[in-house]
Amino acid sequence: MAVIPVALGGRSYEVQVARGLIEDAGHHLAPYLRKREVPVVVDANVRRLWGARIEAALAVEGHQLRWFEVPPGEGAKSWEWLARLTDWLLDQGVERGDHVMALGGGVVGDLTGFACAILKRGCGFVQVPTTLLAQVDSSVGGKTAINTAAGKNLVGAFHQPSLVLADLDVLGTLPPRELRAGYAEVLKYGVLGDRAFFDWLAANGAAVLALEEAALEHAVATSVAAKAAIVAADERETEDKRALLNLGHTFGHALEAETGFSDRLLHGEGVALGMVLAARYSARIGLLTAPDADKVAAAVGAAGLPASLSAIGLDCNGKTLVAHMLHDKKMDAGTLPFILLHAIGEAFVSRDVALADIAAFLDEELAR
Ligand code: NAD
Ligand code: ZN
Repeated sequence: MAVIPVALGGRSYEVQVARGLIEDAGHHLAPYLRKREVPVVVDANVRRLWGARIEAALAVEGHQLRWFEVPPGEGAKSWEWLARLTDWLLDQGVERGDHVMALGGGVVGDLTGFACAILKRGCGFVQVPTTLLAQVDSSVGGKTAINTAAGKNLVGAFHQPSLVLADLDVLGTLPPRELRAGYAEVLKYGVLGDRAFFDWLAANGAAVLALEEAALEHAVATSVAAKAAIVAADERETEDKRALLNLGHTFGHALEAETGFSDRLLHGEGVALGMVLAARYSARIGLLTAPDADKVAAAVGAAGLPASLSAIGLDCNGKTLVAHMLHDKKMDAGTLPFILLHAIGEAFVSRDVALADIAAFLDEELAR
């Protein structure tokens, strides 16, 4: 078992990473549960697979779950479901000192966290993330949000959970494609700030994806520790530190937009390919060595993730992709920040990238 502290003064909390946490959830959650009834937000898939187990685990401590179920998928991060959830939490009599449980992937975590941020000006919540992406990324750091017609994650709040239980057992039921998509974010931590971890993943990535316990725990715990350090240093993304977590995301976002934010390209798949593009562009302008750019592409490809634009069959040009980027919320005072690489493990925020140059680069990549 790994326990990673997220050091945020009065908002500090722990992320526990181990197998069997859900089986023992009654014990782990006891300090946070003041009432017999515990409100739990979940999607239909996760409830079907894991609902009975967590119900049994909490019954041991005399707790009864009250379920709020949303349909699986990004659609639950909406005004409509936010309204339904907050009304339901009020109906349940949730007070500021109570804790709501978010049991699920990033969608359930983001929606629940936001509802808890605004419920009575802020009630507690605990995250029990059930996807690899949620365990290594969305459940840690306190960003919560819903989507609106104007774009993804444009309405939200910073609201830290009180505890995160990352149970490695739940990943056993995750569809392999979702597992690989989450692995893209694991790889990201190596590429952006930890060469030794990147090299370790090159050797052990297959064991991680095969859910071998020791490798999986090391990968999740190292990723969480990396995110925790960044969040502790720059909780609200004001200093270019937290922004490094967007490595691969500006390119990735354009690819997600071009594929209509659909099943054609999962977020993690977009990020994986986006990381390759960030590396290749860094090499093109002489920042990164070509062999290192190739290594990033090889690590992405080895995980069964798309490592080139031809792998996802787009019918567009560089200009179209850049236009998608300009809709990115991270556009700041008219410039588009790009996370580029001096080396594997040394990412930085660049604010002087010419978009015409990016479009030309993408045209070359599309033709490769
Ligand atoms: P998700 O929550 O939609 O889950 C993906 C799919 O896996 C869903 O169909 C879900 O029902 C299913 N699932 C979840 N756990 C399962 C399990 N154990 N077994 C079987 N199926 C399971 O998607 P996600 O990838 O976890 O999260 C994506 C969301 O996270 C996006 O909305 C994104 O904006 C958000 N996000 C937030 C942050 C943040 O800092 N808050 C960071 C990254 C991503
Ligand atoms: Zn991401």
